[in-house]
Amino acid sequence: MSMPWRRRRAALLLTALTALPAALAGAPFDFDAAPGRLPKSIVPLDYSLAVVPDIEAGTIVGTESVRLRVRAPSRTIVFNSLNERLTEVHFDGAPVSAVESDDARQLTTVTLVQAAPAGEHTLSFSYTGRLEAQPHGLFVQTYVASDGSHGRLLSTKMESTDARRMFPCWDEPAFRSTFELTVTVPAAWATVSNMPVARRELHGGEQTTTFERSPSMPSYLIEFTAGELAAIGARAGGTEVGVWAVRGRERDGQVALADALLILADYNEYFGYTFPLPKLDSIAVPGGFSGAMENWGAITYNDQLLLLSADSTLADRQTVFAVQAHEIAHQWNGDLVTMGWWDDLWLNESFAAWRGASETDQRNPSWKWWERQDAAREFALRSDSRLSTHPVQQSVADELQAANAFDEITYEKGQAVLRMLESYLGPEVFRDGIRRYVRARALSNATAADLWSALAAASGQDVGQVARDWTEQPGFPLVSVAASCARGVRTLTLTQRRFLLQAAAHDGGHWSIPLRIRRGSEAPRAQLLTHDGEQSAGGRCNEPLSVNADAIGFYRVKYDAATLAANTRAFGATPDGDRIALLDDSWALALAGQQSLGSYLALASAMGKDRDSRAWEQIAASLGTLEHYARGSRGHAAFAAAARALLRPMADSLGWDAQPGETPDVARLRRTLHADLGAWDDGRVLAEARRRFARFVTDRSAIRPDDQEMILTLVMRSADGAAFEQLHAIARAETNESAKRRDYAALMQVGNAALAEQAAQIALSDEIPPQAAAIRLRLVVLLAGRHPALAWRTFRDHADALLAPNPKYAPLITAQYVPEYFWEGAPPQEIEQWVRARLPAEMAPNIARGMETVHALRAERAALTPAADNWAGQAAWQRGGGRW
Ligand SMILES: [Zn+2]
Repeated sequence: MSMPWRRRRAALLLTALTALPAALAGAPFDFDAAPGRLPKSIVPLDYSLAVVPDIEAGTIVGTESVRLRVRAPSRTIVFNSLNERLTEVHFDGAPVSAVESDDARQLTTVTLVQAAPAGEHTLSFSYTGRLEAQPHGLFVQTYVASDGSHGRLLSTKMESTDARRMFPCWDEPAFRSTFELTVTVPAAWATVSNMPVARRELHGGEQTTTFERSPSMPSYLIEFTAGELAAIGARAGGTEVGVWAVRGRERDGQVALADALLILADYNEYFGYTFPLPKLDSIAVPGGFSGAMENWGAITYNDQLLLLSADSTLADRQTVFAVQAHEIAHQWNGDLVTMGWWDDLWLNESFAAWRGASETDQRNPSWKWWERQDAAREFALRSDSRLSTHPVQQSVADELQAANAFDEITYEKGQAVLRMLESYLGPEVFRDGIRRYVRARALSNATAADLWSALAAASGQDVGQVARDWTEQPGFPLVSVAASCARGVRTLTLTQRRFLLQAAAHDGGHWSIPLRIRRGSEAPRAQLLTHDGEQSAGGRCNEPLSVNADAIGFYRVKYDAATLAANTRAFGATPDGDRIALLDDSWALALAGQQSLGSYLALASAMGKDRDSRAWEQIAASLGTLEHYARGSRGHAAFAAAARALLRPMADSLGWDAQPGETPDVARLRRTLHADLGAWDDGRVLAEARRRFARFVTDRSAIRPDDQEMILTLVMRSADGAAFEQLHAIARAETNESAKRRDYAALMQVGNAALAEQAAQIALSDEIPPQAAAIRLRLVVLLAGRHPALAWRTFRDHADALLAPNPKYAPLITAQYVPEYFWEGAPPQEIEQWVRARLPAEMAPNIARGMETVHALRAERAALTPAADNWAGQAAWQRGGGRW
């Protein structure tokens, strides 16, 4: 599963540390030991399910027959259901004694006339259920097509616990079973499910379609979509690969189809296990949930993440590849091998995040994808610097809380930790371990222990010993480097302690740290740091040193003053990854008050002519944070001038228009620098943006799609009513949804307060097409950049509507992200009270994370503003001819 709402600019967070039961942490998968609420004495083997949805009535009528194995004699059968009523319940053809469905507990209990003996039996029943209007279970999606016509389709979204909304079932991941699905829908509709169509019967205006029986899989991977759809396809080996979209848009899936063929072939090779289903479809759903879902053989995507048109940007194209690489990786990690319980969700999500990023990087080297993932690593590091963070592997007591595990620790930290382990073991050894793991656990479930034992077998090392430090305890270490020099030769003394942004470092924790040390310009050397005070050869005194070469490790490094000075002197010629790690760590140390802001700004000032976009992005974002905090303060103008002076030479050297043969990285750098210069009131940049916008108003091709977001946003920052209304009119009339979304996003960033009130109304209005409902929340968050109080009021007063498109994750978003989105819009107590009033008591750890973020940001703002003023004063003095 992938969810774009998780990625935001400055994020943070945390969980109370929930210790794992020892048995669970170290044991291989065992069905009887897997957590869960359903008894293990009766297990489903095969479902035959026939569903008749009635869109007008909003109901489902179904018949279901489940072949069961009774493992120990029992008089009751317990399984999941939600909003369903069962009738004609029979066990081996005979009526049962009682049936009770409890929607609060989401359970149905069938009581038999007498205890069923061990062996195979059949449970059958009819039922009525609810067709959902929001994307969970089987739902109806309405949409407006690009020609203005209105349409409706049916689709599903089951993870984590919503298959039970479509049909009564054993809805926990350890209960794998085969499924044969039959659905009755309008005759003209196309139908897609996990497996190919086996037979289709027409009767009147309806069709009844039965799909082939699936292999053994968990219920959360069931998929069904039906509507006025069309597909393009191709064959790859034994697999039919297809891309489905609303009829008329299927050609916009050409790039996605080519990607899927390439990625599938790569993964067949990488995992050493050929994709086992006869077909792999990708389905572009117009709207619904905002991410993508890895249903086996039938991946669903929000259409914005799968289809590309002439108006798409390079960033759109990158997103399509990266999301596909993530979801297709799940076909092995998640679908073929499923975590035994939701506490090991990371086995699904960390793996897909890591494998998908590796594939994206290898197949698109000019995108520098791992370097782009540094922003994700930083996001996780910041989040994990809170006292209330949680381990990658975390206790999930009840499957109804599983949705709360889908955060940046599970995704981004997990991805980074796996990359670090891969680098430590070597890519071939790591791949061999993954192949062993997949072979051993195929068509079944797994725990972390199964993975560690496969990696240990492949490497001959006790991998679990190292890996568990990173997955079972919260947080991460700061490695301190103290160098001593004798006869020109440097010796390093390395120590570690937990890195926390705010709290004192009393909190324990110890890690086996796979260091990558680069001395001068040598190739990096591996060293596993296990004991405090370990010594290491540090090369020649005065040459640069990196203890996290290429920024692969999930830890921070603090260098002593002499080593930091050597690194600063050599900064312009440092390898990109080492430089990025140094910038990230120096900024974090400044935020934590463990190193001066001046040390960081000295590095930022030493970039010289280097054009690495991630390094500049890091600098621009940090300066942007300082500039934002300084707004309204006496020193703001001086700081903004100093920040502009730092970026301006590079921006001037890149100009406004692409040069022939320019790499995506440099194009991105140009946009980053202009966007930030304009945000800091650079008159020349703002004037040029206005000039280009004036042409765009009459000629929509005057600004390339890649530049639109940057230029439209710059214009809105200083827009008057006329300019605002010009863009508003363009947004309303735009038929291409990607462009339309860009236009509305820019409107939200208007500087003028009265126009911002209008923007807030627009975000809530029917101008946003129904399939784009999920972006309303993002629009209100964008509004918070310049108008935090307005954005908070708008969100608070319309929270139900804004959160509705994400029903499953609304509690997590409310607890952990809303406080961070709107922390400048209201006093912390007001936000906390509001959040608490909306959420059940068990969300307290998540709320604590959200609120710790707010308090950390407030402390950061208070500490950094005077430090930035001080730097700006010195920079102005220096520009005036002064010397240090
Ligand atoms: Zn995923």
